[in-house]
Amino acid sequence: MSEPPEPVPAPDAAPTALPDPAGASVADLLARDAAHHSGLWAPRHAFVRGEGVTLIDADGRRYLDLMAGIAVASLGHAHPRLAAAVAQQAQRLITAPQNQANDVRTAMLERLFELAPAPLERAFLSNSGSEANEAALKWARAATGRSTFVATRRGFSGRTLGVLPLTWNAAYREPFEPLGYAGRFVRYGDVGELDAAMDDDVAAIVVEPVQGEGGIHPADPAFLQAARRAADAHGALLIFDEVQAGAGRTGTFLAHEAAGVPADVATMAKGLGGGVPIGATLMSADVAAAMPAGGHGTTFGGNPLAAAAALVVLEELAGGLMDHVREVGAHLRARLDALAADEPRIREVRGVGLMLGIEFKEKVAPLLAALEGRGVLAINAGATVVRMVPPLILTRDDADRAVDALAGALADTAPDA
Ligand SMILES: *Cc1c(COP(=O)(O)O)cnc(C)c1O
Repeated sequence: MSEPPEPVPAPDAAPTALPDPAGASVADLLARDAAHHSGLWAPRHAFVRGEGVTLIDADGRRYLDLMAGIAVASLGHAHPRLAAAVAQQAQRLITAPQNQANDVRTAMLERLFELAPAPLERAFLSNSGSEANEAALKWARAATGRSTFVATRRGFSGRTLGVLPLTWNAAYREPFEPLGYAGRFVRYGDVGELDAAMDDDVAAIVVEPVQGEGGIHPADPAFLQAARRAADAHGALLIFDEVQAGAGRTGTFLAHEAAGVPADVATMAKGLGGGVPIGATLMSADVAAAMPAGGHGTTFGGNPLAAAAALVVLEELAGGLMDHVREVGAHLRARLDALAADEPRIREVRGVGLMLGIEFKEKVAPLLAALEGRGVLAINAGATVVRMVPPLILTRDDADRAVDALAGALADTAPDA
């Protein structure tokens, strides 16, 4: 017997348990937070709202957000279409596991594979970058029957135990050794080292087309081509970790498209859901078919709420946002290059699209603090690189404000200031 559903109140009219964003100060929230967080961090900010490229803290202070939750808030904060899609989907259906079909997830996947390059045509959906990479490794093991992985120095594959062996930074890895296996690391860009690391035990080569955590290093296309050749020569797969660089951030849907090198597997997460957690392991049909039935799974992965958010992100990307990224990214890059040209403290400006790094000859923590003092939030990538991974909706004016603030922060921290 089926009854017509009760009418659902509009999302902003329904009473909720959410606290009033003006109900506590930054100091209150930091003190209360300190009692229960894991102890991994020492938070200094308490944000309660966002609007576009702006983050607003509990005291009402506004910041230009060049960090975007580390390349996550691709459409900026409180994007009207994304917020509406999530609210509507919450009123329809939040959960539906991947062993059932769902209208929103299917629409999202169709959109995704209109954008993703061949031969990628199947996806396993999860909830984070680490999970997307773990799934990639399992599929590579299933497809090759091998368990050795070649990764790159400075590379970052995530922090869970399954991918930690492929994360280069010893500070992340060594406290947790022994790990389940050891990655073979080669110098990023060094074709000779890559070829020397290859043999017929290798299941896959794992490469970020633009290294993110490692300091914003775009790959030389010749290195990605060499990785393709080396994988093919040894019957191994090529996995591009696009968790940070993918989803339009570099001005193409996936960063490896620029090099014209096909992947067997590409992983996505950070920007794909615009802030709603989602991970995706994109695969060729051959790779997908290698996993035995029931060989992998997830409870939450690909749920309709996350799929609704990703669908909006994908529609925006397909609707001109990637052209915008190329245009504004080139403007921001030109302004940073001009700043670097007469600033001896800057060693180099690197990056693609709106994934940019400014390497200094000094540690950047004081500069980042000075930037915050000027109302701009950025993040480091290693000790000496200021990373800019803003919302993809950043305008030229926002980019100008960012560079002006960086010039101001340089003056604030000048040795003779
Ligand atoms: C952030 C990141 C990961 C890990 O993603 P999580 O969602 O934090 O697990 C993996 N690879 C790259 C390139 C990343 O930038």
